[in-house]
Amino acid sequence: MLDGELLDVLSTEGKAGGGYCTSLPDYEVPFIFANFNGTQEDVEVVTHEAGHAFAGYLNRKRVPLSSCWPSMEACEVHSMSMEFFAWPWAEGFFGEDTRKFYYSHLSGALTFIPYGTMVDHFQHIIYEQPDLTPAQRHGVWKELMGIYMPWMRLDGEIPFYSEGEHWQLKHHIYSSPFYYIDYCLAQTVSLEFWAMIQKDLPDAWRHYMAYASQGGSATFTDLLKNAGLKSPFEESCLREVCQAAREWLANFDLTGIA
Ligand SMILES: [Zn+2]
Repeated sequence: MLDGELLDVLSTEGKAGGGYCTSLPDYEVPFIFANFNGTQEDVEVVTHEAGHAFAGYLNRKRVPLSSCWPSMEACEVHSMSMEFFAWPWAEGFFGEDTRKFYYSHLSGALTFIPYGTMVDHFQHIIYEQPDLTPAQRHGVWKELMGIYMPWMRLDGEIPFYSEGEHWQLKHHIYSSPFYYIDYCLAQTVSLEFWAMIQKDLPDAWRHYMAYASQGGSATFTDLLKNAGLKSPFEESCLREVCQAAREWLANFDLTGIA
């Protein structure tokens, strides 16, 4: 991808924010776009998009072309799990802060699930009640914050946050209604991969390849089943993956980090 200039990730003046991966079918190659800003997120974005790129490349010969990628939640498993498979390379990015990154990345993955669910819940309410005023919408967000993210302080001095206005940062709410819950489903599966990686990396990779090499040839739940993975729709799944991650975080040596 570097040789083919298929990674456009460095910041240039006027460049749009965000990150994405797409494929250029005529050339059978993936393409990654990002806008690095010198933060931990750069690494998360590029390893995330690399997961999409890898899955796209694995399935580049698939006919018809529309079956190259599965549905959105299934695609996000490729990427969110790749973020965890990339941990062995974190040291090259973070040096002495590597352990800090591990802690931040895993805890962020866990807390993302209630946050992402809140984004979905919020959309249900505002799309059902299109006549809500801007102030009422902020009120809904603020109320949901209390339910899904009770650890967040809402008494700050910046109204954008304290008054529940910052849902407007989520372009998905405007541009891709109801997409967000897909990230929550995928994050749950990626945490399943994370737990497998801790136990047996080669085995985890075999499951990943079994999953990703199917492209879009089956539905989300069948792709998971065929690769020996639990569905996030099973009640025990979320409990188990959270348990494993929580234990790891609870036993994490925070010396020199906190
Ligand atoms: Zn993605």
